[in-house]
Amino acid sequence: MSYVDEVIQEVEKKNPGEPEFHQAVEEVLDSIRPVVEQNEEKFRRDALLERLVNPERQIKFRVPWTDDNGQVHVNTGYRVQFNSAIGPYKGGIRLHPSVNIGIIKFLGFEQIFKNSLTGLPIGGGKGGSDFDPKGKSDREIMAFCQSFMTELCKYIGADTDVPAGDIGTGAREIGYMFGQYKRIRGLFEGVLTGKGLSYGGSLARTEATGYGLLYLTKAMLERNGKDIAGKTVLVSGAGNVAIYATEKATQLGAKVVTVSDSTGWVYDSEGIDLKALKEIKEVKRQRLSEYTKYRPNAEYHEGKGVWSVKADIALPCATQNELTLEDAKMLVANGVFAVAEGANMPTTADATKYLQENGVLFAPGKAANAGGVATSALEMSQNSERLSWSFEEVDGKLHDIMVTLFKHIDEAAARYGFAGNYVVGANIAGFEKVVDAMNAQGIV
Ligand code: GLU
Repeated sequence: MSYVDEVIQEVEKKNPGEPEFHQAVEEVLDSIRPVVEQNEEKFRRDALLERLVNPERQIKFRVPWTDDNGQVHVNTGYRVQFNSAIGPYKGGIRLHPSVNIGIIKFLGFEQIFKNSLTGLPIGGGKGGSDFDPKGKSDREIMAFCQSFMTELCKYIGADTDVPAGDIGTGAREIGYMFGQYKRIRGLFEGVLTGKGLSYGGSLARTEATGYGLLYLTKAMLERNGKDIAGKTVLVSGAGNVAIYATEKATQLGAKVVTVSDSTGWVYDSEGIDLKALKEIKEVKRQRLSEYTKYRPNAEYHEGKGVWSVKADIALPCATQNELTLEDAKMLVANGVFAVAEGANMPTTADATKYLQENGVLFAPGKAANAGGVATSALEMSQNSERLSWSFEEVDGKLHDIMVTLFKHIDEAAARYGFAGNYVVGANIAGFEKVVDAMNAQGIV
């Protein structure tokens, strides 16, 4: 059996009940086969792949907090410090009832290669909790965040591990966590990114993941002789990534006709009204069903359905495995020629394969959504030099990072005989830098 297959098998055996983690490991290891085959003897002797798939450290802790009625609840907190070969651990904190160790490990593993692809010095990590922020009061959110950070603060720091936002963790949560970190550790430092502008946040960090997704999509389209202007775009999700992907797509002359949340989806044939979307989701924290109050001609449907609409480009920006084989078939049948992942691993493995086999340009999340964490790294730089850069400066850097990133994954794919396969390109390009750093640092 090949070294890659041995390690995949071992990961499945050693990490039972973690299908998302298996899926992420299999995708990466399968893509890097050509690199591993060239170095099989050395990699095997050094247990390189075993070191890559085993996190450096996993922290699991109790998070007790009191609700507005005086009832105490206990959630589980996690931080997986996966790989620090190229820099301090970096990755978001997900607050969602579906969170478990397997989900955090899949996200942390993906983060290693994503962060490597940014070209910036950040290692891979991820954290979170099974806490459900939905329907909680501000005080309850604060109580949870303070309790979460009371434990987490022992393991993080500006030069060791720098968490940020993810699903369920936005500016409000980062603020409460930062306040508690500072209070306990007595340090005003860049320990979290996605901070508010008044206390060390970076301009353009809020927009970065969505904007970066569009910068990369545009580069991918241009490389394939296509233009984004005038195209019809499907977006899923209605959180931070979806909102700013919609904004940038619209600025680039495309028309976004859908968005979705956990209960339903919107179809607006005239193009999503961003002002209404921001008001509903960022200000009022309401359900998307409110959208038709702002736009009476738009349609609101319960359940899933975004991928059934006729369009040119699809941008899954909600969550993992939201785009299935059945959805992929609908997309192809409806004329979609490009898919770029705004969320982490939103496309199932069989759907990805189907899209690629049917000639759809496919940009995986670890490349396409890397603009968020890249701009987090720019926030870290600004914090270190105690300066803040203008919106244009940060956005310009983000743009250049995404264009360069695309160039690298395009070249890496071609170099190994997989021209146009950006999944292979992203995994190989991300892996090469991490392996180089791991080899240089010896067996650690
Ligand atoms: N949660 C985001 C991601 O999946 C951002 C992480 C960060 O900014 O550290 O990449």
